[in-house]
Amino acid sequence: MNAAPADQIRLLDLQAIDSRLDQLAHRRRTLPELAEIDKAAADHAALKDLVIAAQTQLSDTTREQTKAEQDVEQVRARAARNQQRMDSGAVTSPRDLENLQHETGSLAKRQADLEDVVLEVMERLESSESRVTELTARLEHSTVVLQEAEARRDAAYAEIDTDAAKVQRDREAVAVVIPADLLKLYVRLRQQQGGVGAARLQQRRCEGCRVEFAVSDLNAIKAEPRDAVVRCDNCGRILVRTAESGA
Ligand SMILES: [Zn+2]
Repeated sequence: MNAAPADQIRLLDLQAIDSRLDQLAHRRRTLPELAEIDKAAADHAALKDLVIAAQTQLSDTTREQTKAEQDVEQVRARAARNQQRMDSGAVTSPRDLENLQHETGSLAKRQADLEDVVLEVMERLESSESRVTELTARLEHSTVVLQEAEARRDAAYAEIDTDAAKVQRDREAVAVVIPADLLKLYVRLRQQQGGVGAARLQQRRCEGCRVEFAVSDLNAIKAEPRDAVVRCDNCGRILVRTAESGA
């Protein structure tokens, strides 16, 4: 393949532009905000689960409290009925009276026990409530952390995309004047060779793979016509000779 030396040198400009675009794309993929967002999203999801579990526990304990209060109320009502019957004088049989008094004593004991249960449930209810409050606050905070990281990511994206659009316009201006076959070869090599398709011959070295040519190889390169498109024997990249190449 042949190409004017000026077009070969333009290939180096294009390479620099493409490397810049690659850097921008790499920066976009590896923004520190992305790892931050992953972590914040995981924290947020874990906290959400904890809030749901705490809310479930709270509603279970609330039901337990209602039940415990109803139990106390039942016993209290029954004791009140007994008292009323005794006070009314309707119960005259000494044996019945004795039974009623005995039951009243048992009910008082039972009521005291049940009131202890109510107190114990109430303590658990309070701690359930504070856990829901605490976890909800932490969940809200984690939402803010996540949103802030997303906002910073979006700002970085916007900046990178603006830069990339500008560099892309530069690329089009350079690429349009490079002969199609040379451009095609460069694009193919760039894909094969980790993003670098064209490299300068600098002193005795290929700047693509850094291999230093033997004098005999260098002489062979020098012997090529100026418009010959030379490829590096080692890496296969287009080897561009410039005024400083020494070849
Ligand atoms: Zn090379």
